[in-house]
Amino acid sequence: MSRAILPGALVNGQPATLGVMGGGQLGRMFVQAAQAMGYFTAVLDPDAASPAGLVSHHHIQTDYLHEQGLAQLMQRCAAITTEFENVPAPALTTLGAHRPVAPSADAVAIAQDRAAEKAHFVRCGVPVAPHALIETPAQLAAVMSQPNNSSGGDLFPGILKTSRMGYDGKGQIRVKTREALAAAWAELKSVPCVLEKMLPLQAECSVIVARGADGQMVNFPVQLNLHRDGILAVTSVYEGAVPADLAAQAVQATRAIAEGLNYVGVLCVEFFILEGGQLIVNEMAPRPHNSGHYTLNACDQSQFELQVRTLAGLPLTPPRQHSPAIMLNLLGDLWPEASAKGPTSPAWAPVLALPGTHLHLYGKLSARPGRKMGHLNITGDSVEAVRATALQAAALLGIEAF
Ligand code: ATP
Ligand code: MG
Repeated sequence: MSRAILPGALVNGQPATLGVMGGGQLGRMFVQAAQAMGYFTAVLDPDAASPAGLVSHHHIQTDYLHEQGLAQLMQRCAAITTEFENVPAPALTTLGAHRPVAPSADAVAIAQDRAAEKAHFVRCGVPVAPHALIETPAQLAAVMSQPNNSSGGDLFPGILKTSRMGYDGKGQIRVKTREALAAAWAELKSVPCVLEKMLPLQAECSVIVARGADGQMVNFPVQLNLHRDGILAVTSVYEGAVPADLAAQAVQATRAIAEGLNYVGVLCVEFFILEGGQLIVNEMAPRPHNSGHYTLNACDQSQFELQVRTLAGLPLTPPRQHSPAIMLNLLGDLWPEASAKGPTSPAWAPVLALPGTHLHLYGKLSARPGRKMGHLNITGDSVEAVRATALQAAALLGIEAF
């Protein structure tokens, strides 16, 4: 990616257009950020009602590996990004042969695979949870028969996670004992898995960096994340939310991980903080992340604006958080049952009557439990005010206090 794609410019006779593989909410917020800067946008997603497709100049409605769909996307776009890590890496390779693609197919391929991802973390000198690969019956037998795994400890109780395609806690089974492992692996259809030791978590946090093709890198502050049932529920970002020494370690580790991938784009790395204060890396997402949605209202540049800048080869300047922030995820569970007459979405008015609340909905027309429908950002002039408002909003919406 040598030359910048300037917003509002003509590229091969067309308005400068940025493309995204995937039409979910992350793609939608990317499209919105790109459009705010003056770019045209194109989304490739098979779903006619995809959140990003609905707001983009162009929506190419094909599968991710569809030859003509990919050709159309390349014809329209000066550069292309992705909004979810399960986009088939071969599709990114095809696109990357003809257009700047960020992140690269190679980086996405590593993030798609828990085993490869963990190996990368270890190469970068960042500690991971004790784990073992379960890809063959022989490996299963070895873990079941050995009192100790290669990392020198007992992996039970553990969590068996599919190496690929997991998200929001899907594709994971908690395995209490050695004996339960075979059944759990069978339940996961004996696909390649990683067995991870269950760790005593004190907290979880994440760091988002943006890195340009020239190697310049900027980061957001460390986000403190509360998960419920394997899904992000609340993100809090303010001074002291994560102890300063751990925050510095997490930022340093994330930068090393991005550097090690020669990464271009926005990258999020998730960490566990263990009881006792040790920092362990969990996983990474080669894209903006749910834990970075607060940046839309609490920072002078959002994670999506940085995604646009890295893709277009524009300069990066360190983003500045100008307000303490709490983000509440709005899951489908909060939606009332649809009925002929009754309400079909939560009562927003009392929530929006609270100062410093910013509602973001993704345009999804049906709600299901666990489905990410939107998020609510809360900003204010003090941590106390933001916390008080966030708790009030949570109570109004039926979100458990935190
Ligand atoms: P995501 O939507 O973030 O991609 P995922 O399905 O990839 O989620 P993980 O991040 O691996 O899942 O796990 C989801 C949550 O489960 C974690 O945020 C954490 O709360 C819990 N968890 C996962 N692994 C462990 C572990 N080894 N020890 C303790 N808790 C864990
Ligand atoms: Mg996770």
